[in-house]
Amino acid sequence: MKRVLSGIRATGRLHLGNYLGAVKGMLELQNSSDYETFYMVADVHTITTPYNIEELRKNRREVILDYLATGLDPAKSVIFQQSEVNEHLELAFYLSSVTTIAKMQHLPTFKEKVKQYPDHATLALLNYPALMAADILLYKAELVPVGIDQEPHLEIAREIARRFNQDYSTDFPEPQRFKTTGEYIPSLTGEGKMSKSVEGSYINLTDDLGTVRKKVRSIPTATTAGGEKTGGIKVLFDLLSLFDKENVNKFDEEFNAGTLQFVALKDAVAEAIFAELKPMQEKRKEFDNNPELVDRIISEGNEKARKVAEQTIDEVRQKMGLK
Ligand code: ATP
Ligand code: MG
Repeated sequence: MKRVLSGIRATGRLHLGNYLGAVKGMLELQNSSDYETFYMVADVHTITTPYNIEELRKNRREVILDYLATGLDPAKSVIFQQSEVNEHLELAFYLSSVTTIAKMQHLPTFKEKVKQYPDHATLALLNYPALMAADILLYKAELVPVGIDQEPHLEIAREIARRFNQDYSTDFPEPQRFKTTGEYIPSLTGEGKMSKSVEGSYINLTDDLGTVRKKVRSIPTATTAGGEKTGGIKVLFDLLSLFDKENVNKFDEEFNAGTLQFVALKDAVAEAIFAELKPMQEKRKEFDNNPELVDRIISEGNEKARKVAEQTIDEVRQKMGLK
């Protein structure tokens, strides 16, 4: 059976971008009998940018609750915490021995995070792609359901796998990204992508209708309709086509005719989004009310992940001459 791995940083609750770009693909692969799926909360990745200790502790749980709310199922997927499987860190160090500094420094994701946190251009941040390669290769995963922003990291993971296989005769597959239709969800500000760590950019899966409506209404739009769709207007139409496809033509025609009332479009988008979120929120409540069950799901997931990870690390240590 082919293996699948994906993860989400413990930097906040999940938003629409995480759901459409990553989780939808995770669900699709989980529900196909051709794959063995490993889904983690990437709490170690969280420490590559400045963070608050208590927030991290809280968010690593929130991400798991969001996973369960969306339908990730411990009977079908291994749901676990990255930090509980030490082999991720161990393999990341071994892989960093076939990774050049120059290559890492030129990555757009590295440059963006340095721009976001100019005083935190650390070795850990530079090494982020090696840790991500380790996450994937540890399970010899062939498919990785993640958004398009992660494509450069996957390219690095493939290069690392190739190089490592050449040098040490390992058999790591070259992992491919599993794409979804929502692989890039723009920020509500109209600039850049929706991100957990960018305030005002996102709609959470746990937002109530009032909050969703308020956030969608805050998307900047022009005063009159017509012309080219830019910034916020493009965001609205992107969201409309993802959540309320049937109404795209109608609003498109109104936009082109210059008769579109933006508030009507915004409220239609908000309602369509909330209709999809509501059942998840109900499911989340059930898990939230049963903390022992969630604890058990996590500890069993960690245990299953460790079993696979130990095998790979053992093989790598042998082949590298460390054993
Ligand atoms: P942070 O700001 O802390 O980096 P994030 O919102 O970028 O948070 P990540 O944890 O880095 O989320 O990414 C988790 C998954 O969600 C990845 O697969 C990533 O590609 C995907 N993803 C993140 N943002 C978007 C987006 N705007 N559109 C589509 N997919 C996204
Ligand atoms: Mg990110």
